[in-house]
Amino acid sequence: MAAEVHPKPQARKPVLLSKIEASQDVVNTAVIIPKEDGVISVSEDRTVRIWLKRDSGQYWPSVYHTMPAPCSCMYFNPETRRLSVGMDNGTVSDFILSEDYNKMTPAATYQAHQGRVTVVLFVLEMEWVLSTGQDKTFTWHCSESGQRLGSYRTTAWVSGLQFDVETRHAFVGDHSGQVTILKLEQDDCSLVTTFKGHTGNVTALCWDPVQRVLFSGSSDHSIIMWDIGGRKGTAIELQGHNEKVQGLCYAPHTRQLISCSSDGGIVIWNMDVRRQETPEWLDSDSCQKCEQPFFWNFKQMWDSKKIGLRQHHCRKCGQAVCGKCSSRRSTIPLMGFEFEVRVCDSCYESITDEDRAPTATFHDSKHGIVYMHYEPTRGWLLTSGVDKVIKVRGHDMVRTCTNTHTRTHTYLLLQIKDQCSR
Ligand SMILES: [Zn+2]
Ligand SMILES: [Zn+2]
Repeated sequence: MAAEVHPKPQARKPVLLSKIEASQDVVNTAVIIPKEDGVISVSEDRTVRIWLKRDSGQYWPSVYHTMPAPCSCMYFNPETRRLSVGMDNGTVSDFILSEDYNKMTPAATYQAHQGRVTVVLFVLEMEWVLSTGQDKTFTWHCSESGQRLGSYRTTAWVSGLQFDVETRHAFVGDHSGQVTILKLEQDDCSLVTTFKGHTGNVTALCWDPVQRVLFSGSSDHSIIMWDIGGRKGTAIELQGHNEKVQGLCYAPHTRQLISCSSDGGIVIWNMDVRRQETPEWLDSDSCQKCEQPFFWNFKQMWDSKKIGLRQHHCRKCGQAVCGKCSSRRSTIPLMGFEFEVRVCDSCYESITDEDRAPTATFHDSKHGIVYMHYEPTRGWLLTSGVDKVIKVRGHDMVRTCTNTHTRTHTYLLLQIKDQCSR
């Protein structure tokens, strides 16, 4: 039963729909306009462009606006058509886009930072413009009055920022590898807690307000899923990239996490699978399987006249084992290991083929990804690359299924997907 319900991961691929290549320099942020065949891009070449798809099938700019400095980041709010552009000179400029996307009108300018703006976020419910900069500050402004409301000094410069409207918590991921949670008031903020789990910079954050789960991506190639709503302190690692994680998006309808890395890899994770936390690595002076001493255990080495062995760890049980007792490799998708990792011989025997069924699919965007955006209503995925090209993909895996079956159980969902693909 269980063996046949897992979909074949290679069966469906995101299909390339369009390419936009006209920028003189890297496009740092680009978004798909919902319900419109359009894309908004901001680039290192100082331009803000709105691309609309013409009858020819090509995207042409309906707006081409040059800013005073390179555009480092952007946020677009579709309801109000408010576009916030962060620049290299520390300024954030707001524009309102016309209904037909043929015009943009300046709305406000904030002298937010001393250096390059790294992330900008507009919160409609609060009328706040949140931003972070290379000056290691997090600030928020009132979008109505243009006034600065408050700021917070961060440990390092920030590259990930998310906000939970319901509880007014800001999640701030920085280059020291930590994620800071701040509680924002109108003109004040307090430190709630910090999460430390990455060994490299935090490069991207993604917040799912329904499941109350925060995802952080890092230059250490890993993604950590922090269960904030569960309040049990669970943190699950997802290992599926060979390079620095560049972007994270969550598809709420299908409960899939989409992640991308600087080598062009795109991974689509099925988040309907209950994954387990990886075990703590145990410390031992000798192999916990064959009891041979590790090389620093001189007394046992001397007593038993044995050569010391190098210590390894089984990724499944966390036991300290020697190389001989952990010669096998296996994927452990239910622990987030989509790549083969070291396991001890007894754990290897306990992992079934069913356990090894991948819970993620792997795709190649064929360009080094700088930025990624997912548009949920059509399931389109946009990537912007170091090659200065924007690619828009129709996303087969995340297309909303027309079947009306319940999605309560994982196996049911997988079956539905299988039916859809036929
Ligand atoms: Zn051993
Ligand atoms: Zn083991």
